[in-house]
Amino acid sequence: MRDAEFFRRWLEAAAAAVEREADRLTELDSPIGDADHGANLLRGFTAVRAALAGADPATAPGALLQLAGRTLISTVGGASGPLYGTLLRRTGKELGDAPEVEDTALHQALEAGVGAVSQLGGAAPGDKTMLDALVPGVAALGTSYAAAGAAAEAGALATVPIVARKGRASYLGERSVGHQDPGATSSALLLAALADTAE
Ligand code: ADP
Ligand code: MG
Ligand code: MG
Repeated sequence: MRDAEFFRRWLEAAAAAVEREADRLTELDSPIGDADHGANLLRGFTAVRAALAGADPATAPGALLQLAGRTLISTVGGASGPLYGTLLRRTGKELGDAPEVEDTALHQALEAGVGAVSQLGGAAPGDKTMLDALVPGVAALGTSYAAAGAAAEAGALATVPIVARKGRASYLGERSVGHQDPGATSSALLLAALADTAE
């Protein structure tokens, strides 16, 4: 069972990973975007850290994820803010107000969260977006947390040869080929942080 402390540690590990990799995420967003992905997520996750620190210690897992999601939506300017915000809000909503969550329930909730991201952005795997890491990563939760981290990382690497069909990178058409998608890369960080926390 995973308690609220587990979810706080996951979000903290995600914030630390974003902080560590912010420059690289912005560099990846330079050739096929507007060079702000790392800065966007750094702003967002810094605000998430503050929101979590200010939240009642008794806040349940689902409410913590919804708080983090709302915070990302209100602080990240780019496309990724509403998308990651929706991921966490929807996942949190699925968890309800239970004080502890089974791994299978978390897997199901994340599947719903990823579905909401796909619905909001109109993208599917193969479009060179965060979904190229999120979809295989969350599917691999059926095997293990470590497998989810590895599958998300593989999914992010596999965006390199793809032509972008959604987001800013799609404006480049064929010229988006040969570059790793920044959002898929940050999604792999989020799932790696989950895997590390679950160990
Ligand atoms: P912006 O493009 O507004 O500057 P960011 O740079 O923060 O926003 O985020 C860009 C990332 O958002 C992309 O690398 C991609 O992974 C993701 N993204 C953009 N549009 C979509 C979409 N419609 N569906 C899913 N992910 C998307
Ligand atoms: Mg950008
Ligand atoms: Mg931008």
